[in-house]
Amino acid sequence: MTVIATSNKLREVLSMGSEPHLMTGEQYKESLRDGRRVVDAQGNEIPDVTVHPALKRGIDNLAKVYDSQFDPATRDITTFVNPEDGKRYSTGWLVPRTKEDLKHRREMLRLSTFHTFGVFGRPNDYGSMMAMGFLSIIDKIEAENPEYAENVRRFIEFSQKHNIMSADLIPDVQTDKNLPPSEKKGLLRVVEERPDGIVLCGAKPCGSVGVQGHFATVSTATSPNLDPDAALWCAVPINSPGLTLVLREPVTSPDSNFEDHPIDSHGEELDNMMIFDHVFIPREYIFSLRNTTLLGLYRESCALCHWHILSRLMYRAEIFLGAAQSIVDVLGTDSFQGVRDAVSEVISYSASLKAHVLAAEEEAELWNGVLVPSTEFITAGRLQSIILYPRIMHILRDISGQGLISRFTSKVWEHSELGPILEDYLPGAGVTAREKNILFNFIWDLACSSHASRVALFENTNSTNAPVVQSELYRSYNRSEAVSHVREYLGLPEVNREIKRLYKTDLK
Ligand SMILES: Cc1cc2nc3c(=O)[nH]c(=O)nc-3n(C[C@H](O)[C@H](O)[C@H](O)COP(=O)(O)OP(=O)(O)OC[C@H]3O[C@@H](n4cnc5c(N)ncnc54)[C@H](O)[C@@H]3O)c2cc1C
Repeated sequence: MTVIATSNKLREVLSMGSEPHLMTGEQYKESLRDGRRVVDAQGNEIPDVTVHPALKRGIDNLAKVYDSQFDPATRDITTFVNPEDGKRYSTGWLVPRTKEDLKHRREMLRLSTFHTFGVFGRPNDYGSMMAMGFLSIIDKIEAENPEYAENVRRFIEFSQKHNIMSADLIPDVQTDKNLPPSEKKGLLRVVEERPDGIVLCGAKPCGSVGVQGHFATVSTATSPNLDPDAALWCAVPINSPGLTLVLREPVTSPDSNFEDHPIDSHGEELDNMMIFDHVFIPREYIFSLRNTTLLGLYRESCALCHWHILSRLMYRAEIFLGAAQSIVDVLGTDSFQGVRDAVSEVISYSASLKAHVLAAEEEAELWNGVLVPSTEFITAGRLQSIILYPRIMHILRDISGQGLISRFTSKVWEHSELGPILEDYLPGAGVTAREKNILFNFIWDLACSSHASRVALFENTNSTNAPVVQSELYRSYNRSEAVSHVREYLGLPEVNREIKRLYKTDLK
């Protein structure tokens, strides 16, 4: 396979460690020194992403998750033993086939979410979800071309063996929606087909974590009207010649310390635009080509992605709840009914996201041997998670009061005259003034900072916004039994087929 040629760096890195299929944080960092072309917000090329100020901290943060694969306290969460060869592999590449597998993956997700506070929407264990989504609809890919179906299986096997981190790229570049696709210059499309692969030009936007990962999986599942040359599902090695990743402006400072910015000081996942200038993609990485019947299969191909996204928000909601209660405890506002009501809203958010995820797992279905949580519950849960997110952020800010601005930096706390005064004047309930200060620094990072704003944008839009989720829910939620019951009771005629189709859609 050509996969082997492009994986030289990964193989070299893995050969330096003790586990054949797992990287330590240091090995992960080394794996990113692979000749990739990245341009920062100043327009400069980055020779080594692991030491660049905009990227270093985020990469160090992800590296710690790699390290947790070797820590006896966490390795049974972050890795699994393959019974076939007795070797350890990353849980991020465990194909869910049973409810236990989903639970194991969710434990991993809990670990990555609690570690990053969920501000990395594409943590180490996310990237596999799109490839596994392809596996879950492999019958449709097989119907197009059995070779492409085999490519999906091999890519998953390859990724599992090489402990890779992957970004996913679905939407097209943003341009005038009234233009026909053929007139959109930036659309990623095939410009040449060779016996050994295809050549791509154009761009893909919003590659969150792309620059910190090894591959990007590309699909066009939200673009139903593309012309055949732009209808493309494939995997792209980040170090492909001709590929340039252009970073957005950073939203965290490379100089902040933990006390002043408990979340932001650990960096961010930088989004980027990937520009393809005659990028060669070996045949082995093609999963669908010029097949317009696969366009628009967003709900099906991304069902696992959506489970991951909602589960991550479920764990974030637990963090929001921990944060809200800590604010109340530290400010001594527990006796105010309005404050209790506000915390109850956060409880309800947290509990209802959990209920959606657990119900979806309980009613999971096997699609081509992959266990996919119920898309009905996941879609309904995602809608709530998006709509209520701004409300939850508002509550955190509201119950904080002046805490968010009567906040001072560690330098001020260490000031010989002012530090002791602030310590005297601003203590909280059961905590010193400086301890109270760090809590509000944390809330700032969670709900107010530029980074918090970028994360809020991400939560709102990364897998389509509320109106799109709403129309999907209307289209797909099966309510035929409920309708029949009402109509039968009232003696109304049976609903006609055309209307029925609108509210009862079989996926398979
Ligand atoms: C911070 C961030 C990170 C992201 N990371 C990723 C990533 O890693 N991978 C990835 O694949 N994608 C990612 N996305 C992109 C996301 O998938 C798209 O933003 C989303 O699908 C919407 O597409 P668009 O941005 O092209 O919106 P556009 O199509 O340009 O539409 C603009 C706005 O118009 C409205 N709109 C458009 N279509 C409809 C409709 N049918 N019904 C109702 N309203 C509509 C919406 O308000 C929409 O936001 C990210 C987005 C953000 C903001």
